[in-house]
Amino acid sequence: MAKDYCGYHVDKAAAWHCVSCGTLLCQDCFPASPDSARQLYCTLCSGNMHYLGVGHSLPPFWSQMPRFFAYPFRTNGWIFLALLAFLTIASGKLLRAHGVVAGVPIFIVVALGIRQGLRVIEFCSRGRSRPPSIRELFDGNPTVLKMLGLVLAYGAMVRVLGHVGWPGIAGMICLSGLLPASIMLLAIHGSLRDALDPIQVVQLAARTGWSYLGLILVLIVTAQGPQQVVALIPAATLGRLAESNPEVLMAMLVASTAYFNMVMGAMMGYLLFQHHQGLDIRPDDEHRVAPADNRALEMARAAILVRESRYQDALRQMAGMVADYPNDIAVLEYYHKLLCVSDADPDRVQLHTERYLGALLDAQRKSRMIGALEAACRVVPHYKPKSIPVRRALAEEYFLQRQFKPAVALIGMLHKEAPNSDDLPAAYYLLARIYSEGLRDDGKAIMILDFLLKHCPGHAMAGEIENYRKVILALGQTSQVAG
Ligand SMILES: [Zn+2]
Ligand SMILES: [Zn+2]
Repeated sequence: MAKDYCGYHVDKAAAWHCVSCGTLLCQDCFPASPDSARQLYCTLCSGNMHYLGVGHSLPPFWSQMPRFFAYPFRTNGWIFLALLAFLTIASGKLLRAHGVVAGVPIFIVVALGIRQGLRVIEFCSRGRSRPPSIRELFDGNPTVLKMLGLVLAYGAMVRVLGHVGWPGIAGMICLSGLLPASIMLLAIHGSLRDALDPIQVVQLAARTGWSYLGLILVLIVTAQGPQQVVALIPAATLGRLAESNPEVLMAMLVASTAYFNMVMGAMMGYLLFQHHQGLDIRPDDEHRVAPADNRALEMARAAILVRESRYQDALRQMAGMVADYPNDIAVLEYYHKLLCVSDADPDRVQLHTERYLGALLDAQRKSRMIGALEAACRVVPHYKPKSIPVRRALAEEYFLQRQFKPAVALIGMLHKEAPNSDDLPAAYYLLARIYSEGLRDDGKAIMILDFLLKHCPGHAMAGEIENYRKVILALGQTSQVAG
């Protein structure tokens, strides 16, 4: 299957396709849910978005070969092989002791093998990575007799074709090419009628396209597996085994046949899973796309507009998102970044920066405040937020980073700018600390503290301010003595 990749990620398979402009997007770039009730539109052209399916993003069949051959060694797989080997040995012993009656256990072995092979196809077609358990062989639609019916029907057709010469031989080749499609239909629908319906069989082969032909070739090779296993055993050993322990030899043959059946089942199932959308196969829960997250999708739309340099559209998109998610830091942040880099109107930058900084302060994300302020200052030089608590938080952050000048610039003139603000004492207490601890200007610090004690006498912080003043004075005397 030719795979399309995301227009923005060369290494990610496309999951969505715009019917109008042809844009291909991966699930990250278009995090929508295919189960969405409403029609999804393309960010770039408003055309309809079409879901390409999970199968589309699967790695190609060929790259999965090692996985197919390892499949029978997964937990339920080897348990089944062991059980089959045990049953073969047991029925072999019965056969020797009781003759023909032991045909029943042999039939059970064959039936289990058939059932398991079909269940493997069914499981893999839904993308389930684990083989069916023994118990699961008895669940669902019974298919063993139908499979025997299918084989008989194909046998009868081959017989008829055998009587019509060359065209018959051509027909037989076609027929054997269609047998896997019939088996796959039986596995996923559980109906012999479907499996023998020529239209459905041909449709399935056509839907899977060239991969189907590839599958046939691989199946032909893989079907030789059990013979090759026998060929690996030295003739002498084989002879001795047949003589002394014929049951063990039988068990080996049965288990290796079942192993290769499982491998072939995994191959057929994988091909079906790759095309499950067109074939109406419901994938297992582990492959279901996450439920619709409208916020993520709307953010992704803005990101695509930015990638296309459509900044005005991206700004409009983000302004809409801010209205819908007024307290969402990630939304506010993205809009802020966009405003600051896209030559937006300075008033708009100022207005949103104010809001964004306030939200950061409320959310206790103070470490991001300086970055946001400096980005805004690149658009609006000398910009200062209006809110005094925001300014104090910014000054505190600058103080922590030992950048005293910008800290003072933010709160240094508050007694003129906002003399009656309730936040003035806290801000000026910080200012005094910046002067004393940062700029080593105790004189200025004492001046600020005196101003506070005089102008806000009964304030809750008065005690703290008084103490700090005493400490500065005491330390000043100590250093004078030391000096
Ligand atoms: Zn489009
Ligand atoms: Zn992408």
